[in-house]
Amino acid sequence: METRKQELRELKNYLIHLKDLGYTEIPCEAELLNNSAFQKTNPSNSANNMASKKSNSLAAVQKVLGDCTRCKLSEGRKNIVFGSGNPNADLVFVGEGPGADEDEQGLPFVGRSGKKLTEIIEKGMGLNREKDTYICNIVKCRPPGNRDPEADEVSACKPFLIQQLQAIKPKVIVALGKPASSTLLGRTVPIVKERGTWHEYEGIKLMLTFHPSYLIRFYTLENRKAVHEDMKKVLKELKK
Ligand code: SF4
Repeated sequence: METRKQELRELKNYLIHLKDLGYTEIPCEAELLNNSAFQKTNPSNSANNMASKKSNSLAAVQKVLGDCTRCKLSEGRKNIVFGSGNPNADLVFVGEGPGADEDEQGLPFVGRSGKKLTEIIEKGMGLNREKDTYICNIVKCRPPGNRDPEADEVSACKPFLIQQLQAIKPKVIVALGKPASSTLLGRTVPIVKERGTWHEYEGIKLMLTFHPSYLIRFYTLENRKAVHEDMKKVLKELKK
């Protein structure tokens, strides 16, 4: 029974990976072979080669993560929420951890906060969430009751976030909220004070902003304007 569950989880992760590669239908083996043959026989197509390399390294990170039990969050989770979007994206959003909807579906930011984030990306920034961004969290399993992830959980899961960012190599990272900002900067970040400021993470520009759930909870004009201003700065940086 446990083996079957694990096989189903692996199948699900594989399907998510295909989606990350841009497939909208399950390709047959020949199609996949043709795809890699295309990459190999077209060395001039460096953008495609780069995208393929990034997908492969992201898939390798996911493979190492496996059916992870490295911290206690594995005990209550239904699904590992690895991340989703374009492995070749210039823009990566990092949240704190999956909520109930995300845990159910195995995908990041699909609940109420996810809808708000999609609105920020698509209506506010004029980008396409799936094509232009990659979204992940500092912990890949749901903390019980949606509490903040604890230090031991963050340190167990952080290596995988680092490897994801190394694989994608985006131009800009946006940390959503205090836990993500603090994890990436390695210090406690007073988010109300520091949102809207630029930082650097391993040579990559890092913008700090409010988590969409904070925006939903404190839906003031001031907070909405603040996030709008932060995203304008991000767009300007992306166009450089
Ligand atoms: S939160 Fe991360 S380290 Fe902890 S069990 Fe889940 S995947 Fe593993």
